[in-house]
Amino acid sequence: MSAAAAARGRVVFVGAGPGMADLITVRGADRLRSAEVVLFDSLADPALRGLAPKARWIDVGKRGRTGVAHGAANERTSAGQAMINALLVKQASEGKRVVRLKGGDPGVFGRLEEELEALAAAGIECEVVPGVSAAMAAAAATQRPLTRRGSGRSVSLATAMTGDAGIQAGHHADTEVFYMAGRQLALLAHRLAEAGWPGGTPACVVSRAGWPDAIATDHTVATLADATALHAGRPAVVTLGAGATPIGTTPPRREHEHEHPAQPREHDWNRPGAPRPALRARSTTTP
Ligand code: SAH
Repeated sequence: MSAAAAARGRVVFVGAGPGMADLITVRGADRLRSAEVVLFDSLADPALRGLAPKARWIDVGKRGRTGVAHGAANERTSAGQAMINALLVKQASEGKRVVRLKGGDPGVFGRLEEELEALAAAGIECEVVPGVSAAMAAAAATQRPLTRRGSGRSVSLATAMTGDAGIQAGHHADTEVFYMAGRQLALLAHRLAEAGWPGGTPACVVSRAGWPDAIATDHTVATLADATALHAGRPAVVTLGAGATPIGTTPPRREHEHEHPAQPREHDWNRPGAPRPALRARSTTTP
């Protein structure tokens, strides 16, 4: 590190995971403990504050007191993002140890590139600590691996949102996980069908993955719109294709898919005494 860099602070981007404090990594928790300033978007679990009680916590999210940002991390205006970049540079330039806490993994739909660029331009040293992204948390909650031997050789992390209020979808991988599509599921289903996904392709929607009140429902591309009401107001991802198939069931048979469209089904995995998710999924899956 140069003398100039040593005189400055540094910024550590920490992935907080999908919500609950215990899903942060040990390294992320360690960096939080030594932070003097923490910039966060919206603190999913207030227990995270307990890791750095003496740090100055600055809310730069949509309800942030600083008023620097509008909308969720991904919807933020460029003016809001520019102010966050400036705040990061300012705090680090004053010699502070800054943590930039982001939900999930900082590098997945987290506007990480803009912030890294701004800090690099100012000559400020950075580190990125990975986090559990929503796709992985959803796969863990449903016990449905994103890759499958033979049928699931590729995974795509995608957003259907185009930034100009439009929505796009393709067919790029055996398993596709869509972020930020919760309010546009009917349109997403339409785009998926246009992109060539058969109507009977399994689609699993998981909201608040990683929390005790997580909800997972099973659909198909043709019935995906039914999930809108079931997950309203909750952060959700849609897992499509090979990785949406419950363990112990055969992959979708494409030639008969229109004959047995799956009905939406809500798993009550988190109720006390509920069966384990994998068993529940298997026992309720339409053959
Ligand atoms: N960096 C984050 C994603 C930020 S974009 C990550 O790696 O997970 C915000 C989107 O992430 C939400 O619209 C939703 O699609 C998804 N998301 C975040 N937390 C979630 C959770 N606990 N359960 C399901 N989806 C979640």
